[in-house]
Amino acid sequence: MSLTLNTDIAIIGGGIAGLWLNAQLRQRGFNTLLIEQSSLGGGQSVKSQGIIHGGAKYVLHGALSGSSEAIADMPERWRKALNGEGELDLRGVRLLSDAHYLWSPGSIAGNLTSFFASKAMRGRVDQVKGKQLPEALQHKDFKGRVYRLAELVLDVPSLVQRLAELAGDSLLHAQKITPRYQNQQLVGVQADNYSINAQRVVFCAGSGTEELLQAFALSKPAQQLRPLHMVMAKGPALLPLYAHCLGGGSKPRVTITTHPTADGQWVWYLGGNLAEAEGVARTSEQQIQAAQAEVAQLLPWVAQEATQWATLRVDRAEPVQSGLTRPENAFLSEQGALLVGWPTKLALAPDFSDRVLKLLERDDVQPSSAQSYPDLPRPAIAQPAWETAFNDPA
Ligand SMILES: Cc1cc2nc3c(=O)[nH]c(=O)nc-3n(C[C@H](O)[C@H](O)[C@H](O)COP(=O)(O)OP(=O)(O)OC[C@H]3O[C@@H](n4cnc5c(N)ncnc54)[C@H](O)[C@@H]3O)c2cc1C
Repeated sequence: MSLTLNTDIAIIGGGIAGLWLNAQLRQRGFNTLLIEQSSLGGGQSVKSQGIIHGGAKYVLHGALSGSSEAIADMPERWRKALNGEGELDLRGVRLLSDAHYLWSPGSIAGNLTSFFASKAMRGRVDQVKGKQLPEALQHKDFKGRVYRLAELVLDVPSLVQRLAELAGDSLLHAQKITPRYQNQQLVGVQADNYSINAQRVVFCAGSGTEELLQAFALSKPAQQLRPLHMVMAKGPALLPLYAHCLGGGSKPRVTITTHPTADGQWVWYLGGNLAEAEGVARTSEQQIQAAQAEVAQLLPWVAQEATQWATLRVDRAEPVQSGLTRPENAFLSEQGALLVGWPTKLALAPDFSDRVLKLLERDDVQPSSAQSYPDLPRPAIAQPAWETAFNDPA
């Protein structure tokens, strides 16, 4: 038997984009239903490195045109939300680091001086030394320069947890989504045996968006997937480190973030160039060897004997970009009552939400009388990959 639910906005996909948008809409008095097929955050969001970028990484390869790009405002918006003074109350979300660092190993430090003095970077970086260095770099053998970026690193599982609290009774676990039309107009979705009437439907299902569009007989907007082969290391010798290590190229040679595990240890999560094309082509074993070699070369004082290693393959999902450019703003397109998009970065979830709100305002979409949705099947919250990737000795 089909059950009918009335809502204002049906959101498909419970990653950071859907969860943030859902919380924003509820705060404005909209009725919402967020439909998640699997687990909340389990697509890309909980697999991300949790860096709230301000764009420094993009300035590095000349891809950021200036402060007009949305990403430049993100660290401050998130910081306010974490302090309970922003657009959402994210108090309780664990801040892993109140800065991300750029670290240039000895050889290329000289080239960077003019870059850091450039107009685009002014006010975004400070060089740090001695006791101000990240713990993992405070070693007598460390050579190179380190710059502190005004960026944050968040514990994404606790972020997803908080956004799920803000979602109240609006979360629905359902597998199969199909469109519902009346007079050839989209009037909602069928989600398993729930018939949902909605003023607008928003697709923000990450890599699942293409398949959803197909189920709605749509081929646009086109999606691109960019694969990554990430590496995880767990062991007693690993001290907290949140840094892009610069190589000669336009992308960081390796980006290391550090995440807490349920058993009280730390995991280094390694991305950056290591995880891009060449890394994707490697087997898991080869990728671990490549990561071990990077750590041995860049941080030779880190004892690797008791460290366990694992890898994780995951695709970034985005709108198709022309050439090699990658988006620096969230993306949203509209087709009647259907809105489709990708935040393109965890950090840009507020920008994605702004874009949806702007279209609702333009079309004068108003909240209808308040609904409650008791007893809906609720999706679980995703576990981070490092909780299952290692076979810890008993
Ligand atoms: C390894 C890695 C590291 C990253 N690091 C960073 C970083 O440090 N900082 C940063 O800003 N960005 C980072 N990113 C990018 C960032 O993670 C993503 O841009 C962001 O998480 C995307 O969020 P989303 O909500 O669009 O998608 P997702 O998190 O992928 O969520 C989509 C959700 O939709 C659900 N879904 C799919 N199909 C359906 C369907 N048919 N019905 C219902 N639900 C469906 C999925 O199960 C999933 O839960 C990283 C990405 C990767 C892969």
